[in-house]
Amino acid sequence: MNQIENMHVGEVEKAFVLWDMGNCPIPDGHDPLTVVAKIQMAVEKSGHVRRNGQISITAIGSKLTEIPGEDVMSRLSSFEISLKHSHLYIHDLDEWADANPPPSTMMIIDDHERIGWIASNLSDFEDAGYRILLAYPQRTTPLPRSFSKQWDWDALVTDEQETTTTTTSLVYSQGRYNDEHPLACEVCFVAVKSFEDFTAHLKSVEHEYGEWDRFACKNGVDRTIRENLPFGRSSESPTSEHYGCLVDLIGRAGVLADALNLVKSLPFEADALVLGALLGACKIHEDAELGNEVGKQLIGLQPEHYVALSTLKALGNNWAEAEEMRKVMVEAGIRKSLHIVSCLNVFKKKM
Ligand SMILES: [Zn+2]
Repeated sequence: MNQIENMHVGEVEKAFVLWDMGNCPIPDGHDPLTVVAKIQMAVEKSGHVRRNGQISITAIGSKLTEIPGEDVMSRLSSFEISLKHSHLYIHDLDEWADANPPPSTMMIIDDHERIGWIASNLSDFEDAGYRILLAYPQRTTPLPRSFSKQWDWDALVTDEQETTTTTTSLVYSQGRYNDEHPLACEVCFVAVKSFEDFTAHLKSVEHEYGEWDRFACKNGVDRTIRENLPFGRSSESPTSEHYGCLVDLIGRAGVLADALNLVKSLPFEADALVLGALLGACKIHEDAELGNEVGKQLIGLQPEHYVALSTLKALGNNWAEAEEMRKVMVEAGIRKSLHIVSCLNVFKKKM
């Protein structure tokens, strides 16, 4: 008995659509809702998939705030389409397949070259019983292997012959990101619930550095050389927020010494943002000694970081030191109310 025969009477397949909006954008002058309806119709016409409650769509891109732009993103989000900042998506397909055994349908909307890269993965899915649908701008020859169905993206979207119906509840949310957090950034491992939070993240320094970090890892950029460091989109001087993100990234990437060197070479006095990032790196690397030094400086600025320091002390199993830290914290609280003492010189001297 094959997999389709195994389905119960009345059961319908689920479908997952992965749509790269950078490579297959909504053509100028087309309404996003209409384009979504065209995609759904293509999926429905391919087989056993029905619209209501069965098709989930994730739209991805690496510059979503520009393509398709915030207005269109907002509309797509209001149709319950998941939005994801992402460069690669093969594991999204794997993840969906894990939760949705065949027979079911996956549609990939992307350019010819990128689909070519994952063609062998798609063949494996097809061999396992998934129906694979593809849409791409067919300016080149079709892909060699004949998947279940292929469309020319522009023709699919602009086909005036097709009758479309539109509703405001079009798609079915499903999947790790979609269930609770339909808006996610894969580069920074950030998932949020509100559209406003999502766009704020995509425009944040944190995200900018996440992207740079990805680039640096991929291209073997030496992050300890100042000239290699990015300092924001504008020509403004880098702020402590920029440096804080950088220290955090370098620390998390596993090079604590480089993070420390960067802090030592700052063109201004390290503030709580930078020191906090360095302390976080110490904690990740379980370097209680350095963390202790950083923490003493930090406490002068932010007594609330005492909790993080307690953890470090526990790591070092040095409870006498912990008590000393508590005293430092108390003193710092008093000092802070009078004057925040600059700590960098002491900091540099000790290390
Ligand atoms: Zn991000």
